[in-house]
Amino acid sequence: MAKILIIDDSTFEANHVKTLLEQMGHEVLWAETGSRGIKIIKLDRPNLIILDLVLPDISGMEICRWVKQDMRMKNTPVIMLTARGEVQERVEGLTEGATDYIAKPFDDAELSSRVIAVLREVELRDRLELKNMEYEELLKRLEKMSITDTLTGLYNRRHFEDVVVAEFERFKRYNIPFSCMMIDVDKFKDVNDQCGHDVGDTVLKNVAHLIQGQVRGVDTAARYGGDEFVILLAQLRGESAERVAFRMLSAANMQNYQEVDPRLSKITLSIGIAGVPDADLKTIDQLVKSADQALYKAKNGGRNCYKIASVKEIGEISSAT
Ligand code: GH3
Ligand code: MG
Repeated sequence: MAKILIIDDSTFEANHVKTLLEQMGHEVLWAETGSRGIKIIKLDRPNLIILDLVLPDISGMEICRWVKQDMRMKNTPVIMLTARGEVQERVEGLTEGATDYIAKPFDDAELSSRVIAVLREVELRDRLELKNMEYEELLKRLEKMSITDTLTGLYNRRHFEDVVVAEFERFKRYNIPFSCMMIDVDKFKDVNDQCGHDVGDTVLKNVAHLIQGQVRGVDTAARYGGDEFVILLAQLRGESAERVAFRMLSAANMQNYQEVDPRLSKITLSIGIAGVPDADLKTIDQLVKSADQALYKAKNGGRNCYKIASVKEIGEISSAT
């Protein structure tokens, strides 16, 4: 059942159309003038408008133009009622966006079949639009999935690498500094061994949550793999990056894992930081390797701490852990 609005100043004609449409099972509204018609369109949002072109106040053509320019109503079909032989009127009406026309006097069967055809078209279009929206939603979800780590909900390594490349290009062009921070859970194998893989997974999720809570919206936090995480700290270098690392370690030290598993005590992190500018750095690969080198230094330095490294230091203590 559709809601159909008739705009027609002829009571006889409108009543006739109204009865016919009601017999077809539709809800019918009627406006005698153009301005009343516009009010009903705004208020009741009909599914179809049957419009007489000659009205006492506004012309039917004006109403058609108004409907087609209104963002919310422009898809509402309009069937014009025109005088037989008025070709110019029909051409103009169709140009203004009317869906169809019926020449007066019309046959009941003709009117009902035109209404059925127009409403069927609307239904098909609505279904297609819905399908398109579902398809777009699906695409968005797939896109999100392709850059998200399933266990932790952080970005995955591939997305991180894309972001680093873009940030490095920005650095080369505008000299905007940034840092790369590698974070690894200390003695994580022991968690798996003592409490099982599921508890290990929960710990990784908690660590990811903790990391996400310590970075700003402009930073990119990702799971690099296993128990290793990585953060791109946008526009931060040196002491500012160190402050983030310090906060991260403090937050980890304060977290209580007893609720996750009574066998767990503290879970600490080791952090390596590298950043640009670095006089020796030529490729983005060197930045990630420097951060990794800094992480080795942190592990070697007793864990639960952060260290900084530059490109010069890559490979210096590669056997540290
Ligand atoms: P270190 O302090 O030197 O980092 O010691 P570690 O025991 O943490 O050593 P390492 O970082 O090499 O261990 C990583 C472990 O993480 C090994 C692997 O079995 C485990 N692991 C990797 N991915 C997952 C995962 O998705 N879930 C769980 N539960 N464990 C994982
Ligand atoms: Mg580890």
